[in-house]
This record gives sequence, C-alpha cells and structure tokens, in this order.
Amino acid sequence: MLQEFDPRNKDLKIYVKDGIYPRDEAKVSVFDSVVQGGDAVWEGLRIYNGGVFMLDRHLDRLMDSCKAMLFTDIPDRETITQALFDTLKANDMTDGVHIRLTLTRGEKITSGMDPRLNQMGSCLIIVPEYKAPVYDNESGISIITSTIRRNSPNFVDSKIHHNNLINNILAKIQANVAGVDAALMLDVYGYASELNGTNIFMVKKNKLYTPHADACLPGITRGIIIELAHKHNIPCIEKNISLTELYAADEVFCTGTMGELTPIKKIDGREITNDNSSNVMERLISAFEEIIPQYIVPIV
Ligand code: PMP
Repeated sequence: MLQEFDPRNKDLKIYVKDGIYPRDEAKVSVFDSVVQGGDAVWEGLRIYNGGVFMLDRHLDRLMDSCKAMLFTDIPDRETITQALFDTLKANDMTDGVHIRLTLTRGEKITSGMDPRLNQMGSCLIIVPEYKAPVYDNESGISIITSTIRRNSPNFVDSKIHHNNLINNILAKIQANVAGVDAALMLDVYGYASELNGTNIFMVKKNKLYTPHADACLPGITRGIIIELAHKHNIPCIEKNISLTELYAADEVFCTGTMGELTPIKKIDGREITNDNSSNVMERLISAFEEIIPQYIVPIV
C-alpha cells in the first residue's frame, strides 16, 4: 500500500520555528540538527471532529523524549499546543488530518555532532496533512519478519521517539522488496517487538497478547487498547511472543496513529486463520471508535 499525493495538501501552511509558512517556503537550515544527525524528537497526532486526539499523552511522550536527549531549549506544553492550534486554524483543518510534529535541537553554528554547537534554540516543525488511515483496515495487511532487530535499551532505547529511523526504514525496505505492506521487527532475543511503524497485538482463545514495551515504542494507541481491553473484560497479557505463537494466533493486528487498528492477515506466508471464531479485534475497534470523542482536545 503506497500512499498517494492528496491534492488538498498542495497549499499547506506549515509551522517552522517561529512562524507559519506556505508549504514551498517552509524550510529548515542545512545546519539544523535533524539534517546533521537526525537529532530530533517527534510525534504523529490525529485530528478528529474539530479536536486533537490524546494531545496530553503525545505531549507527555514528547517531553520524555526531550529529557532523554538532554534538550535544553524545550518549548512548554502551552507554547506547543498554541502553535499546533494556530497551524490547524491557518489551514482551516478540523477532521481527517494527520500531524507530524517534530522538535529538532535546532541550528548549529558549524557542522558536527556536539549539542554544544546548538546555540540558536530548538526548532519546532508542525506539518498537518489531510491523511486517512494509511492501511486498508477492511482487507488488512500482509507482513514479513525483518532481519533488522528493533533496538533494546542496550542500543538506542526504543522508548525515545527520535528521528534516527534508519533501522525501521531498513525493515520497511525489506517489506517493500518482499512485496508486502510492513515488516515485523524482533527484539535481540528473537521475540516480536513491533512492526516498522506500529505496535502488534495477537488474540488466542479470546485472550489478547502484546509484547512487553522493552524493545518497542510504547505507542499511545497500544496504551489505549490495553486500557480498553481491561475495561471490556478482555484478558490482556504483556509477554514475550515468538513467531510460532503469532503464526498460530486467531487474530493479529497492529496499532498506531497512522493506521488506527489494522488486521494482519498473513505473516511470512502463513495465513492467520481465526480457528476459535474470536471477535476481540472487532470489539476493540468499536470500543476505540466509541472513546474517540472523550479524548478530543478542541482546537481553540
Ligand atoms: N511504533 C513505531 C516504531 C512508531 O513510529 C509508531 C508511531 N510513531 C508507533 C509504534 C505507534 O505509536 P502511536 O500509537 O503512538 O502512534
């Protein structure tokens, strides 16, 4: 599934550092840390019905990432929120929108890795685009297992939502070459961690399972699905999950802001067959749709 250009995004207004610019004029310096070393943190957010979904949780994760990266010039939550609302209002956007919000360590006085070269403040970038969930959530997706491991805390901790996405991109390239939609990444022990851009869940005999968030991003959608499972009395267990367990699951799905909940129909050529006629995914999709209005922060 390859995303296509949406003509509604032709004349976007984009926030960069201190103002809102037309798409073609929105630029960062070649000395910006994100260019020099992927030295930035980011969030993907979605707009539903006039509001930002789970804004607080996204800001919490952004702040956690900034702390881990020892950013020194961190705009406060109110400043980021106002910039976000101003950008959405400048675009007259209220629904069906995905936002890529990036905070870079900013421009450097000369090229190099050292954060002490960043003496011009951080750079906030807000790119809102009209974008429906990226996968076909009716037909589902096929995936392969990548040979690229997802980082454990031994390497670059996957809990930091940073812009060094090369391991995920290499995994996605393997999926593209294999002609499937996404790649499953394992942790260093060979257990499932997550897909290249989404978290993974499986259902077996009406119980829901997901990997521990040791080597995956603790996704906001993942978090809400776990909460909804508890609320609806669906047993939900975080555990090490091997490929054999995934191949033999009744249902497998992935979660993320980009695609919401997406069924996974085939893994490494194995069809996922619902031998126990479970409907856990369907129940969670309805529960998710139901709670969206409760977690919307209106654009003001
Ligand atoms: N895993 C990875 C690697 C991601 O990049 C993302 C989204 N940025 C997710 C999972 C899903 O997280 P969320 O539910 O917060 O969108």
